[in-house]
Amino acid sequence: MTTPTPTTPNETGPGSVLAGLDAEHMHGIYLHLHAHPELSMQEHATADYVAAELDGLGIENFRCGGTGVVGIIRNGEGPVVAFRADTDGLPIAEDTGLDYASTVTGTLEDGTAVPVMHGCGHDTHVTSLLTAARLLADRTDAWSGTLVLVFQPGEETAAGARAMVDDGLWDRAPRPEVVLGQHVMPGQAGTVNLSHGTAMAMADALRVTVYGKQSHGSQPQASIDPIVLGAHMIARLQTIVSREIDPRSPAVVTSGTFHAGLKENIIPDRAEFTLNIRTFEQEVRSQALAAVRRIVIGEAAVSGAPEPLIEEIYTFPRCHNDPAEAERIESALRAELGEENVAVSEPVMGSEDFGHLADSIGVPSVFWMFGGFDLGEGEPPVNHSPFFGPAMEPTLTTGTRAAVTGILAYLGTKP
Ligand code: ZN
Ligand code: ZN
Repeated sequence: MTTPTPTTPNETGPGSVLAGLDAEHMHGIYLHLHAHPELSMQEHATADYVAAELDGLGIENFRCGGTGVVGIIRNGEGPVVAFRADTDGLPIAEDTGLDYASTVTGTLEDGTAVPVMHGCGHDTHVTSLLTAARLLADRTDAWSGTLVLVFQPGEETAAGARAMVDDGLWDRAPRPEVVLGQHVMPGQAGTVNLSHGTAMAMADALRVTVYGKQSHGSQPQASIDPIVLGAHMIARLQTIVSREIDPRSPAVVTSGTFHAGLKENIIPDRAEFTLNIRTFEQEVRSQALAAVRRIVIGEAAVSGAPEPLIEEIYTFPRCHNDPAEAERIESALRAELGEENVAVSEPVMGSEDFGHLADSIGVPSVFWMFGGFDLGEGEPPVNHSPFFGPAMEPTLTTGTRAAVTGILAYLGTKP
């Protein structure tokens, strides 16, 4: 049993960012959400829970993009700031040993029953944003402007941000001048880090179906072997990064699955593999995607095989921190959390659909990371691990503090 003991934050006095914090309520939200994760785009109970919390605070709210929830606090003159928290869990069997660990199951789109876990820590994001909303709703004399709270479903499948935007998010809520967001990571709890410029990679997932001609394994002359052909494709796809893309631009082309055939003496009629492509720059992304098409179609042609089918599984947009706004957030966080607890970091190869919320209306965004573990206790688990169980404190107070600080960096004065 490794249940972290929640500690009561001590920086809750008058005038502090956390003034009036109800830590017990915050921990109650987290314990509930952690034990009740839901799969992407199926966050019905989570949406009901979030809406009930907002109702309880008297914050107007509406559903958007299916299981998304938007809350709006209108507090007089001033800028409009949006803050996003993603709400979905993952198909993982939780193995944290926490006494509030998830034991729930869900159903994937294809009907498969799976265990579900908040394995990416999105429950910390929702808890922090709901707590920030409570603090700011209680303290409307200390700030001015409009705060839009975006509880976004389906981050893990890159479906949620698009679903909310397509459902008229920015027609139904006031258009923000900046969109903020944060993510828990396997760093020291109490610290945050952010990058200036690119924050996370774009990601494209593709499925390639290679068509051949079936034959007896003893009569290869009658076949077009999709396994040999697919193997050539996979090998040649490695040259996109090693021989085509400028080595100064990071890129990844990974083939994570390859399936073909049922028996050793049958040459099958098809093979199927998937690709995951990560890039930081739009031109490099276009270059990599074009190279995949050229190589896959070209290899099939030289084998005399039919043209393969290339399908998009998902695409994650860029996650870009506007340098000027990142500067503003960084200095606000440094002032609030202390110099030693804020670091500037390099972009990561992971991906997020957060950027679409701002890019869809051409406004800047800033996305930062906050730690969720006590590094003194050893190497923390990574996001999406069955052992990913952030320490409740000081993770939740830090997430809340960072959220309030980021928001007040724009709305923190009365005109
Ligand atoms: Zn994740
Ligand atoms: Zn995540």
